[in-house]
Parts: sequence; C-alpha cells; structure tokens
Amino acid sequence: MQPRDLSDLSPYVPGRGAEEVARELGMDPDDLTKLSSNENPHGPSPAAVEAIRETAPNVGVYPKASHTDLAEKLAARWDVTPEQVWVTPGADGALDYLSRAFLDPGDRVLAPEPGFSYYRMSARYHHGEVATYDLAKADDFAQTPDTVLDAYDGERIVYLTTPHNPTGAEFSRAAIVDLAEAVEDHTLLVVDEAYAEYTDAPSAIDLLDTHDNLAVTRTFSKAYGLAGLRVGYGVVPEAWGEAYARVNTPFAASEVGCRAALAALDDDEHLERTVETARWARDYLRDHLDAPTWESGGNFVLAEVGDAGAVADATQRRGVIVRDCSSFGLPECVRVSCGTREGTRRAVEIINDVLTEVRA
Ligand SMILES: *Cc1c(COP(=O)(O)O)cnc(C)c1O
Repeated sequence: MQPRDLSDLSPYVPGRGAEEVARELGMDPDDLTKLSSNENPHGPSPAAVEAIRETAPNVGVYPKASHTDLAEKLAARWDVTPEQVWVTPGADGALDYLSRAFLDPGDRVLAPEPGFSYYRMSARYHHGEVATYDLAKADDFAQTPDTVLDAYDGERIVYLTTPHNPTGAEFSRAAIVDLAEAVEDHTLLVVDEAYAEYTDAPSAIDLLDTHDNLAVTRTFSKAYGLAGLRVGYGVVPEAWGEAYARVNTPFAASEVGCRAALAALDDDEHLERTVETARWARDYLRDHLDAPTWESGGNFVLAEVGDAGAVADATQRRGVIVRDCSSFGLPECVRVSCGTREGTRRAVEIINDVLTEVRA
C-alpha cells in the first residue's frame, strides 16, 4: 500500500522552534530569543488568554455559535456580509479553501518567488500546477503590476503577498486594482494580508465591492499572537461567498480558537502595543545590523549576510534563532522577526558579533 505519487509535494519548512533548538543544544528554552517565525513577542492579548481559560470546560461540544459570532464580528469590522467571511484553520486554511473552490485538476496558479511556500503546496494538494513570478533582489524585490504580468499566462489563481514574506515589500493599492483589471476573467487574485496590521497601507478588502475576482486572506497568528490556535479567515466577494458551505471542513476553527479571536479583536490596546514594538524593532534592525537590509512593511527584516545557514547556526548557538532563508531561495539572507526591545537589541548584538567572526 502506498499513497499517491507525492514526489511533487515538498514538506513545509517552518522557522525553528525554541524548544526544538533548546533540546538539540542542551539549553533552557527560556534563554533563547526566537525570531524565526514572525510571532508576536508579547504573545496573545490577556483578554484572549482569559477567554481560552473560560472556554476550557466547554470544549466537549462542537463550535457553532462562536464560529457564527466570529464571522459576524469580522463582517461588521470590514463592512461585508457574514457569508463573505470564511473562518478557517489559520490563513493557510483559507488558502486551501480557495484552492478547493477554484482549482480543477491541472489548473495552474502563479506564485511569487521567493515567497510563501504554502501557496504552491496548497495548489499541488488540490491537483494544480505551479508557475512563479520573480521578485528580483537587484530591484529590491519590487512588487509592481509588471512584476506579475510579465510572467502571467492566464493562471487560475495569482497570489499577491503584501507585505511580502520574507522581503517586506508591498503592492500599492493602485497596483492591486491594475492587476485585478488586467487579468483574464477566470483568474482569481488572492491578496495575502498576513502582516497587514504592521503597515499603514489600507486593506484590499473594500475592493471586493467593485471586483469579484479578488479574495483577501488574514490571520490571527501574527499581530494577534494566536499562532498556536490556528485561526484565520478569507474575505471574498458577495457573488460567491456561499461557496464556503460547499468546500469547508465541518467546524473549521475550534471553539477555543474562535473565542480567543473574538476576545483578541476587542483588545485594541494590545494590538497597538504590538504594532508599536514591531515598528520600533524594524527600524532598530535596519539601523543597527551590520548587513544590507530591505525596507519592510511587516514585523521582520530581511538581511543579506553571506552564508545564511552558517550565520543562522552560529547565532542559534548563542541563543538567538533567526530564519535561514535558503528554503525561500535566498541562501544568502536571513529573516529576523521583530522581538521585544530587549530581545531585538540582544539579537542585533549577537548577529553582528557572528558576522564579524564569519567575515574575519
Ligand atoms: C504566517 C503566514 C500566513 C498564515 O499563517 P497561519 O498561521 O496559517 O494563519 C500566511 N501567509 C504568509 C505570507 C505568512 O507569512
């Protein structure tokens, strides 16, 4: 007995976890500063933690009301109908549901390179084929309509990440509108806004009023600090919002996840503090790292360090975990997430020491 031919499917390579690294190096996880997965260094909102506690005795039943409440709350926030909000297990789940709803076997998608690997994985799980558009380092990874259109060949789904992971570059709103108007009628543009809280640029969600070939994905994993709970959502045009009921896995997001997300949405203070820290850290990293970096709209900075694998290993031995970007196709770069002020200062000191040694 064997599964189907999975040779085209590559495993997702996550940032390294503090416990994993601590076990390997015989260290205490508390002595590690983990800046490899763009998580919120302040963790979740205390209100979300309280909601998780309060929900614990109720997890014997399937989530229903909480799911409805979350879709309604998000709908009110974005001024769309609840049917337009597809609550999912992480934003990765939203990417899957869009693949389920749009891809016939053999359909092609167009994804950024370098870029988030799950776009490709999701398409392949759903028997799709993958083409890529190049983000050029020489061009500071610029994201313009032509960046996409030069490679576009009528694909069924085109993925746009703004702010982009791992480069931090953004698509302007005008660029998204231009693209929505330039692509063929059967092409869906998926705008991945996993890091949108960290930029001043407005969300593309209101473009759904005028364009029915656009979907926006968002997550509670990053700025809301709920990565461990797996809650995200897609916002889709009214015209095909009801497709959700046909493609979702029943009870997509958990009771605990929905309740925590509802509480997190009410804690503006925690979100503001999170964004403020990230902006400070982003500037600090760019000002103080002894390596070329790129402007970032996210809670991370990409830095060119030479041999990323060697640099990531060496910083890790000293207690700072950064993301080696080799798996993104950038073997000369590391991505450093924004930490607390203390964690970020410590990371910069250690990375700079390592760079001095590696270069000597
Ligand atoms: C983190 C991330 C996501 C989604 O993460 P989930 O935890 O599944 O919500 C989506 N897109 C990009 C580019 C990301 O970096």
